[in-house]
Amino acid sequence: MATKEEVSVMIVSNAAQGHINPTLRFANRLISKNVHVTIVTTELVQNRILNAHNVPSTTLNQQPSQNKQIQFEFFSDGLSLDFDREKNSETFINSMKTIGAKNMSTLITNLAKVRDYYCIIVDPVLLTNIENVSNELNIPVAFLWMQPCATFSISYRYFRNVNSFPDLNNPNEIVQLPGLPLLKVRDFPTYMLPSFPPHCRQIMVDMCQACDTNVKWVIANTVYEWEVEGVKSMSSLSPVYTVGPLVSDFMIGKNDVTNNNMINMWNVEDSCIDWLDNKPNSSVIYIAFGSIVVLTQKEVDNIANALKNSKKSFLWVIKPTLKGSENDATEFPKGFLEETKGRGLVVTWCNQEKVLSHPAVACFLSHCGWSSMIESVTAGVPVIGYPYWLDQPTIAKIIVKQFDNGVILNYEVNEVPSVEEIERCIKEVMEGQEAKEIKKRALDLKGSVKKALEEGGSSDKSIDQFINDVVDAHNLAKA
Ligand code: UDP
Repeated sequence: MATKEEVSVMIVSNAAQGHINPTLRFANRLISKNVHVTIVTTELVQNRILNAHNVPSTTLNQQPSQNKQIQFEFFSDGLSLDFDREKNSETFINSMKTIGAKNMSTLITNLAKVRDYYCIIVDPVLLTNIENVSNELNIPVAFLWMQPCATFSISYRYFRNVNSFPDLNNPNEIVQLPGLPLLKVRDFPTYMLPSFPPHCRQIMVDMCQACDTNVKWVIANTVYEWEVEGVKSMSSLSPVYTVGPLVSDFMIGKNDVTNNNMINMWNVEDSCIDWLDNKPNSSVIYIAFGSIVVLTQKEVDNIANALKNSKKSFLWVIKPTLKGSENDATEFPKGFLEETKGRGLVVTWCNQEKVLSHPAVACFLSHCGWSSMIESVTAGVPVIGYPYWLDQPTIAKIIVKQFDNGVILNYEVNEVPSVEEIERCIKEVMEGQEAKEIKKRALDLKGSVKKALEEGGSSDKSIDQFINDVVDAHNLAKA
C-alpha cells in the first residue's frame, strides 16, 4: 500500500505568467509536505525563461537540482516559438486543443511509465485537453482554480444553467445568486458576456462541463476566511480545497527554495529595488497591470498625467509588447519622463512580490488580477483598483470592496478613468485619516495570511486534506 512519502503529482500549466506563478508556488507547498511534483508546461515557457535570463538551456535543467523535488517537463503547443499567441488567440487555442493536446498526452504517458502519479492537477485552460489521457492512464484529475471561489460560483451557475440569469447584454441588470452580494451584469467576469470572443468563452464553458465529468477535486487559490460565503456558494456546486494565498515563501517569512526570478518570462529589472531603497517608507505608488493587459494610449496618458499632478513617487511596470500587436506604439505624454525625473521609475518587468514587500511602497494601482491582489494582501499594501476584464471586475466588486483595503476607480463600462478620478484615488489611499484607516485594514488582512498558512491554519489543513484524499483515492484504486 502506498505511503504518504511516495506521493507524486503532476501539475499541468498554461504558459501565462499569472498561471505559472501560482502553479510553482503550489508545487512548493506540496513539496514542503513531501510530495514529489512534476510541472508540465509548454516549450514557450522554457524559451521565454531562457531568453529573459540569457542562459544556456542546460541551466534550466538544473532547476530541479536547486530544488530537488520539482521536475520540469515541456511540450510543444504546435506553433513556432515566435508566433504571436495573444494576437492570434483563436489559432493558438485550436493548436493547443489539437497538436498541443497530443504532444501533452504523449509526454504525460511517457512520464507515467517511469513514475506512479497519484493525480494530475490541471490549470483551467488545459482542463479539457487532459480528459483522454487521464482516463486512459486512470489518474484522477484535480483542477487548480486561480481565481476566488466567488467567480467560480458565478461562472458555473451560469454555464451549467444552475440559476436563471438576466440578459447579459445589459450591464445594469441586477442578479442575486446564493451566497453572493447583489451584483450587476457589469460586475460579472467578462468571459461570461456575449461580447467576449466565442473561442475564449468556450474554454470556460468546457471547463465548467469538465467539472461535472472529469474533475475529482477543485483546489482554489484563496483563503477560507477571506470569502466564507463565496466558498459556501462554490462548495454547494463542487467540493473545494482552499489552499491560498499561493505566494512565494519569502513573502510569508520562510526560506525560498526556488530561484524566484527563474520563472519570470521577462527580464526582471532588480535595480528598481535599489531605487526603492532610497525612497522614504510608504511614499511610492506601484503601478502594474499583470502579464496580459496592454494599456491604450488614452489610458497611458491619463495615468501619466495623474501621476505627474500627484507629485508622488512612482514605480510603473510597462511590459514589452510584441511587435505589431495592438497598442504596441503607446508613448508617454510629451515631457512626462523629464518632469517626473527622480521621483518616477519605469521598468519593463520586476519581481512584483519583492516590490510589494518593500517598505517604500505605499499603494498598488492594479488591474485586480487575482495573483496581484493576493500578493498585495500578503504584503499589507493598499490597492487602487483599476479592473480591466476577465475576473477583475468581480474581484474588484466582491473581494476588494469587502476587504476594504483600498479604493476602486469609478468609471463607466468601456470608458477610461479620468485623470481627476485617478488623482482622487491616489489622494484617498495616501493622504489623511481615510488613508490611515485603509492602511490599518490592509495590515489586519496581512495577519489573516499568516494565520491561514501556519501549521493548523485553514489553508495548511486544506492542503493536508487534499493530500490525504489523493492518497486514499489512489489506495482504493490499487486495492
Ligand atoms: N508580475 C511580476 N512582475 C511584474 C508584473 C507582474 O512578477 O512586473 C507577476 C505578479 O507577481 C503576479 C503575475 O505577474 O504573480 C500577474 O498575475 P495576475 O493574476 O495579477 O494578472 P494576469 O497576469 O493573470 O493578468
